[in-house]
Amino acid sequence: MSKIVLIGCGAVGATFAYTVLVKGIATELVIIDVNQEKALGDVLDLNHGLMLAHPMRISLGNYPDCAGADIVVITAGAAQRPGETRIDLMNRNVAIFDSIIKQVTQYNQNGILLIATNPVDILTQVALKLSGWPKERVIGSGTLLDSSRFRYLIAEHLGVDPRSVHGSIIGEHGDSEVAIWSGASVAGVSLDYPGSGERWHISPDQRERIYEETRTAAYSIIQKKGATYYAIALALGRICEAILNDQRSILPVSSYLEDYHGISGVCMGVPSVVGRNGVAEAVPIPLSDTELAALKESAGKLKSFLSEIGF
Ligand code: NAD
Repeated sequence: MSKIVLIGCGAVGATFAYTVLVKGIATELVIIDVNQEKALGDVLDLNHGLMLAHPMRISLGNYPDCAGADIVVITAGAAQRPGETRIDLMNRNVAIFDSIIKQVTQYNQNGILLIATNPVDILTQVALKLSGWPKERVIGSGTLLDSSRFRYLIAEHLGVDPRSVHGSIIGEHGDSEVAIWSGASVAGVSLDYPGSGERWHISPDQRERIYEETRTAAYSIIQKKGATYYAIALALGRICEAILNDQRSILPVSSYLEDYHGISGVCMGVPSVVGRNGVAEAVPIPLSDTELAALKESAGKLKSFLSEIGF
């Protein structure tokens, strides 16, 4: 038996709920939203697919239903407006989190909080402080989505399956995120390996284009259709699978770092072992000097935003 409570059933939340149903990720899903009509509509619509998907219970709920939840996924909040940076969203969403986390922790002390609301690294740290839960059990979706975009773009460039490409985006989920080209590989072979020849070479200009497209993907999708939700819903589903099945998968999620390449006191995305108890450990992947400097800058930027809001 596994229970997920979803708080926020907008574009991201509803798509995540559909992902849980289609992939059979949990046996129970409870949906909470201030917009109860919309959430009830989604609950009915999802239940009407039960005969065609996986057996599970899907219901509209309220905060007392957080009792016994293995994972509380938070996608509630104000969405990014066209042209608005994730950090601009900060103050609007901190206030929403203040109210949500107080109510969740009133009914649940042993679950895992999984945050997607932006700015996700800041709000993961806000949730960590407000909940008082151990750092292992407060997780942000971090740079899993960005890493998936990165791997897709590398794969598209090379004409191979994204699942055959390895590589991470780390740091802030946002403008200061860092592409780890030094660790990127295809079929286990480093993209920097000179013996691979021209076929597998990605020039500095092409690398810059891939990084820029990754970094600005949300802006360009929001410009076109108002929100991004399919890939983030899959990313959240993947994290839930790793937790509920104790997979100990290495995923670039956001959690509170202590001496990660010398970086401490901030939540941001780095490759981490994810299993039944949340984030078991951050994996200290090798970084070039430039990558490390960029990661430290990203951490510094997040810390200064945190201090602006008193966290
Ligand atoms: P949306 O506006 O469609 O949905 C937000 C939902 O939250 C709405 O249904 C709203 O009623 C609900 N809500 C607002 N305040 C609430 C409260 N106090 N309690 C319960 N529910 C509340 O927005 P969206 O497109 O679904 O995006 C949701 C969040 O996810 C945004 O912050 C967005 O930036 C973020 N996001 C994150 C990533 C990522 O990689 N982490 C990717 C995409 C979107």
